Amino acid sequence: MSPAENTRQYKRDLRRLMTSVTVAIASFGVMLLAIIAYAGWSANTSAVEREQQLVANALNRSITRALNEQKSVAWWDQAVTNITDRRIDFDFVDANFGYFLTDTYAHDEVYILNGAGAPVYAFFEEARQTPAVFQRRAADLAPLLAEVIGPGPATLQSRPGVFAQGDYRFLAGGGTGAKWGGHILSIDGKAAVVAAMTIVPNVDTALAPASPHVLVSVSYIDEGFLARLGQSLLLPDLSLRPTAADENGLVSQSFVADDGVRLGELTWTAKRPGDVLLNVILPLVALGILLAGGLAIHILMRLKRASAELAQREASTRHQAKHDMLSGLPNRTYFLEQLDTLLASRGPDGAPLHAIVAYIDIDRFKDINDTLGHDVGDRLITSVAARLQSNLRAGDFLARFGGDEFAILCENAGADEVAALSQWVARTFAEPFLEGGGAIRVTTSVGVALTPENGDTSEILMRHADIALYEAKANGRDCAVLFTPEMAKTVETRRKVELDLRAALESGKLDVHYQTIVSAGTGQVTGVEALVRWRHEVRGDIAPALFIPIAEESGLMPAIGEWVLRRVFEDAARWPGIEVAVNLSPVQFRQSSLPALLERLVAEYGVSSERIVLEITEGVLLDSSDRTQAILDTVRSMGFKTALDDFGAGYSSLAHLCNYKFDKIKIDRSFVSETIKKEAARSIVQAVVKLGRGLGMDIVAEGVETEIDAIQMRQFGCNELQGFFFSRPMPRAGIDAVLRDRTSDPSEKATWLKVAANV
Ligand code: C2E
Ligand code: CA
Ligand code: CA
Repeated sequence: MSPAENTRQYKRDLRRLMTSVTVAIASFGVMLLAIIAYAGWSANTSAVEREQQLVANALNRSITRALNEQKSVAWWDQAVTNITDRRIDFDFVDANFGYFLTDTYAHDEVYILNGAGAPVYAFFEEARQTPAVFQRRAADLAPLLAEVIGPGPATLQSRPGVFAQGDYRFLAGGGTGAKWGGHILSIDGKAAVVAAMTIVPNVDTALAPASPHVLVSVSYIDEGFLARLGQSLLLPDLSLRPTAADENGLVSQSFVADDGVRLGELTWTAKRPGDVLLNVILPLVALGILLAGGLAIHILMRLKRASAELAQREASTRHQAKHDMLSGLPNRTYFLEQLDTLLASRGPDGAPLHAIVAYIDIDRFKDINDTLGHDVGDRLITSVAARLQSNLRAGDFLARFGGDEFAILCENAGADEVAALSQWVARTFAEPFLEGGGAIRVTTSVGVALTPENGDTSEILMRHADIALYEAKANGRDCAVLFTPEMAKTVETRRKVELDLRAALESGKLDVHYQTIVSAGTGQVTGVEALVRWRHEVRGDIAPALFIPIAEESGLMPAIGEWVLRRVFEDAARWPGIEVAVNLSPVQFRQSSLPALLERLVAEYGVSSERIVLEITEGVLLDSSDRTQAILDTVRSMGFKTALDDFGAGYSSLAHLCNYKFDKIKIDRSFVSETIKKEAARSIVQAVVKLGRGLGMDIVAEGVETEIDAIQMRQFGCNELQGFFFSRPMPRAGIDAVLRDRTSDPSEKATWLKVAANV
C-alpha cells in the first residue's frame, strides 16, 4: 500500500472509530436515561399503587372497626335481656348503644330493629329519635339488612378480610344467632360505613332469642373521617372529591360503594419516591452523558487533528526523503524510482517506452568552489537548479544527484531528440549566473543514454550516461555526448588495465628505465630520468601515458609512485656523481606524507637529496596553491631539486615561473620539434630560456631527436639536453654501461658540440 493510501485508510478508520464511539455513547446514554426514567416512573407508580392499596385496606378496616365496636355492646347478655320484643330499657340502650357508639366510636346514626326488621330504636345527633325516622334509610340499608337478617341473596360486593365469619364460630355456630354485615354504602347520597349485627348473648346462650334484634349503625365518610384515615396512612390531605383531580402530584381513586354506586374520587397527594430519580438523578446523568459525549468528541477531534498533523509530517518527511535539501529538486532516489516506473511500463503495443536519460554536470565546478567559496558554490547550484527547473520542457523530469551533478529524464524521446536536449541545455546556460558579486559563466558537460537502445535497467542506463559524461569531459567539456558501446568497451578496458596494473605492482612486473640527460656544454651525461615501464603478459609494453592516468584515478598511484621512488633511490646509490630525475604525479605531490617518505628513503639508501630531481607538471600548480607551495618549499628545504616538467604543453603561465621556485625548467618536446619549422616556437623557447636563466633556473630541452635539435637547443642557451638523439630510455644495466664509458671524450665524436654555443 502506498503511503498516501495508508493515510486515506487511516482517515477512514478514524472516521469509523468516531462514528462508533458517538453511536456507542449515544445509545448507552439513551439506554441509561431510559432505565433511570423507567425506575423513577415505576417507583412512582408502585408507590401510588401501594397507597391505593393502603387506602382500600384502611376503608376495609374501618368496616371491621365498626363491627368490632358494635360487637362490644351487641354481643352481650345484658343487651339481650334489656332489649326484648316485650320490653326495651331505653335508658340502658341510650347509655350503652346510642351515646356509647356515637360518642365513643363516632358512629353517626344508630338504629335497632326487631327480628322482623321493624325499627325500635333510633339515635343520632346526640339524642334518641323516634324509630320511624329509620324509614328514610330503609331503602339504602336494605341490601345490608338482607345480608344479616336474611334470607335475601347477598347483592353487595364483599370485602376481603372484613370481620371474618370464621373468627366468631362459637357465637355464630353456637346457636346464638350471631350474624353481622358491614359495608360501605351510599346513604342519602353520602358515603358511609354501615354495619349491622344481631344482638345476642355472649355468655349465657340460653338467653338467645328466637329472632334477635339487629343493631345498625351508620358512620359517614366525611371530612373528619377521611382526616383520621389520612393521618393514620400518612396521607394528610386525603379527601373525597366528586371528580378525579387533575392537579399535579394528586392521585385519585374512584370510590365505589359495595352496592355499585359511585361515591366520588378519593384524592390525595401521592408520595413520589421516583421523583428524585426523575428530577435530580436523570438530569445529572443526562448532563454526565452530554459531558462524556462532549469529552469523547473533543478527544476524537484532537485525535483527528493529531492524525492530520502526523499525516502532514509524514508527507513532508516523504517529500524530504525524495528531494534534495539545497535545491528542492527531486533527489537520486526519486529519479531512479521514476526511471524504474518508466522502464517497467509498456506502450500500447507492448513495446518498451523510449526515453532519454542524461547527466548534466557543471564544468570545473570544483574551481568555482575553490576560488569563490562554498557559499557561492551552493548559491550557484541553487540558481542552476532553479533555472533548469523553470525552463523544463513538458514530460521532462529533473533531479539533483548531489554535488554539481543533475540528471534529466525525457519521456517519449529517442535519438532524434538528443540534439534538441543538448540545445536546450546550452540555451539554459547561455546567460551567466549573477552570484558572489559577479557574473559566473557556466558550461556543462552532458552524458546521454537512451532506452531501450542503451539499456533497460536504471542501473545500466545511469552507468552508460555516466560513461558518456566522462567522454564529454574528456572531449574538452561544454558538450553533450551520446553513449556508444565503444565507450563502454574503453571503460571496460580501463577497468581491466586497472586490475592488471594492481596485479603487476604486487607481483613485481613493473620496471624502471632511465634516459640520459647530457650537458649542453660538454655532452657529458649529467643525469638520468626515471621512467616507469610495464610489460603486460598479453598486451606487451603499455605506455605510462596510458596507465598512469588510470593509476591516478583508481588510487593506485601512491603505491606505484612509492615503488618507483624506492627504485630510483636504490639505483641512484649505484651511480654516484649524476642526478636522477623522477616524475611525481599530482596525486603523489598532493600527499602530505611525501616529505616524510623522501626523508626515509634518503636515510635508507644514503643518497644525497641534491642528486634527486623531482619533476612535476604545471597541473600540480593549478590547485590548492598554498599547499603546493608549502610542499614545494619543504622538499626544496630538504635539499631536493625540483623541475617544472613539460613546460609549454599545458596551461603554461609565465607567472608560475615567478611564483614558484624551481631548479630546472624542462621545455616540452613539442616546442623542441617545432623550433625548426616555426619562428614562434623559436621565439618562445628563447624567451623561456632567457626568463628561466634570469630567475636562476637551468633549462632542459626534452625530445631532442636530431643533431639539428641538439645544435639549436645548445645555441638557444639550454643547459641540458634529453632525447632519443642521445639515448632511448634503457634498463639500469644500460646506464651502468654508459657511465662506465663516460671517461672517453665525446667531443671527438659529436659535431653538435663544435657549434658555437650560447651556454
Ligand atoms: P615525461 O616526463 O615528459 O617523460 C619523457 C617522455 O618522453 C618519455 O615517455 C620518453 O620515453 C619520451 N621521450 C624521450 N626522448 C624522446 C624523444 O626524443 N622523442 C620522443 N617522441 N619522445 C621522447 P614515456 O616513458 O612514455 O613517458 C611518458 C610520460 O609518462 C612521462 O612524460 C611522464 O609524464 C610519465 N611517466 C613516466 N614514468 C613515470 C613515473 O615513474 N611516474 C610518473 N608520475 N609519471 C611517469
Ligand atoms: Ca619528466
Ligand atoms: Ca617531460
